[in-house]
Amino acid sequence: MRIEILGCSASCFPGQYPTAFLVDEHLLVDAGTIGSVLDAQRQSLIRAILITHPHLDHIKELASLADNLLIMGEENSFTVYGLDPVLESIKQHVFNNTIWPDFSRLPNAYSPVLRWSPLESERSYPICGYTVTPFGVNHSVAAAGYKIAREDASFIFSGDTGPTELIWKAAAGISALIVEVSFPNELEQLAVKSLHLTPAMLARELEKLPEIPPLVLVTHVKSSYYGQIAKELAEITLTQLEIMHEGNVYNL
Ligand SMILES: [Zn+2]
Ligand SMILES: [Zn+2]
Repeated sequence: MRIEILGCSASCFPGQYPTAFLVDEHLLVDAGTIGSVLDAQRQSLIRAILITHPHLDHIKELASLADNLLIMGEENSFTVYGLDPVLESIKQHVFNNTIWPDFSRLPNAYSPVLRWSPLESERSYPICGYTVTPFGVNHSVAAAGYKIAREDASFIFSGDTGPTELIWKAAAGISALIVEVSFPNELEQLAVKSLHLTPAMLARELEKLPEIPPLVLVTHVKSSYYGQIAKELAEITLTQLEIMHEGNVYNL
């Protein structure tokens, strides 16, 4: 399983893009970054997108992908998966024919470029050749993390979350954990209020796992605090822990 990091930043600056991980060529996890880095041919290969939650930094390039693929032609279509309230928010607030067209009816309702497919927490689904299981996590809006498994490789992505429980129970035997850390330790109160993690909070979350995976990848670091967060993560002294960067590729 190949994971290409299109975006893993909690801020937008040149070279730093919001969350999106491309799994092999057809499955995308979150949609903060698509057309900013993928050419037309690679955009046209995307068939399934798993959305963690409706915050703009996790969905914003869905809009241009739908438009691009519609223009490219009818054989290009993709399905967006997520918890029901997550998909409902995106439909109601973005693809509502005011902010952006309802691409689930374009070019027509029978063969649209975009389809919505709601998922239930803790149920496993076959999607694009992977076994995908969403788990509700603890964020300021309805949100899920995902376990994605194929043959002998698997990973968990926490999505945006504060301290949580359910998803960690599924972590036995995974090849990698991708987990958010947004703020430095001194901003723990802000992290608790906005339901994100600091390095110290991550250390407490890792204690809930049945075992520490061979690879722990940190995402969603706020750029302004990068140096401080990197230093505090190093203090966890976990050799398999690293901060991800745009363009990184991990072969699990
Ligand atoms: Zn969020
Ligand atoms: Zn976010």
